Amino acid sequence: MIFYHQDLGTHFIRFGIDLPLRDDRADRVFSSLKESFPHLEPIDINSIPMLCQEDLALVHSQEFLKNWSELNSLKKALKKTYEHKDSDKKFEKVSLENVSAFKDHLLLQGAATLSALEMALTQKFIFFLGGGMHHARRDFGSGFCPFNDLVVAMRVLQKKGKIKRGLIIDVDAHMGDGTSEVTYDDPSIDTMSLHMAKQWPFQSELSITPSTYDDAFLPGEEETYLSRLEKALAFFDSRVYDAVIVVAGADPYELDTLPSSKDMRLSREQLFARDEMIYHWCQKKKVPQLWVMAGGYGDEAHTIYTQFLKKRLSEASSAIK
Ligand SMILES: [Zn+2]
Repeated sequence: MIFYHQDLGTHFIRFGIDLPLRDDRADRVFSSLKESFPHLEPIDINSIPMLCQEDLALVHSQEFLKNWSELNSLKKALKKTYEHKDSDKKFEKVSLENVSAFKDHLLLQGAATLSALEMALTQKFIFFLGGGMHHARRDFGSGFCPFNDLVVAMRVLQKKGKIKRGLIIDVDAHMGDGTSEVTYDDPSIDTMSLHMAKQWPFQSELSITPSTYDDAFLPGEEETYLSRLEKALAFFDSRVYDAVIVVAGADPYELDTLPSSKDMRLSREQLFARDEMIYHWCQKKKVPQLWVMAGGYGDEAHTIYTQFLKKRLSEASSAIK
C-alpha cells in the first residue's frame, strides 16, 4: 500500500546542487506511519526497472530527448527547470559527473512512479511517497518537474498492454499544466485539475492547454472546494478507466509555506475530506488508484498525507482481523 524508500527523495546537495530546498516529507510520513503500523517496510529499490530513453520518448519531443542525451545540454535544461533566483550560479558549479548522477536519480524517481502504478493494478491502491512532476512540458522541464513521470507511467503501461484508458486527477494547488499539454490530443488519457486561478503557472509566461476538466479557484472560495470537487468527479462518472493517478499535493493547505500557493487555504479537515472523496470515488468505480505526493512545503505538509494514510492503514488492518 505504501511505496517508499529513503533514497527516492530529492536531496540536491548529494549531487553538488546547492539549492535551498529541503524535502523530507516522505521520510516524515513514513516514520510517523511506522510508529502506529510497525509492519511497514520500505520497498526494495533494486527491484525497480530503470526508465530508458524510449520511455521518455512516449511523452517528450526529440528536442527534449536531445537535451537529455548530452550532459552539457542537460545541465542547461535542468537549470531552467529548477529556475530560482540563485539557481543560475548554483548550476554553473555542478560538475558533469554530478549532472550524470542526478540524471540517473531523476530517472529512478520516474521509474518508481511507473513501478508503483504497475503495483496498483494488482493491489488496487498504492500511495507513492514521491512523484508528481505535473509541470513538465513536451519540449522542456518546468517548475521543478524535469519530466512528466505521470504520463510516462501511463503510456509505458499502455504500450505493455496492461491498461487502455487512464485518468489523472490533479488536486495540487498549482495547475497540472504539463500533464494537460502532453495529453491534449490523446483521447486515451483524461485529465482533471482543480487549482488556484491566479498563481503560477501564469498564462503570460507559458501558454496553458486546458485539461479535460478544469476548475480554477479565486482566493476566498475555499468553502466551495468540496462541492466543486464532487461536481468535477461526477463529470467523469460515466467514463471507464483502467487506472487513475491522483496528484495529491498538500500545498492547498492553509499552513503551506510556499509563497505561490498562498491563494488556496484549505483546512486540514477539508483536505482530509478531499482525499476521502477521491479515494471512495475510485473505489466505487473499482479502478486501481496510484497516489503521488506532488507539492507541499513547510513543516506541516507531511501531516496531510499522514492523516489520509493512517485511515487507509487502519481500515486495512481491521479488514485482516
Ligand atoms: Zn503545487
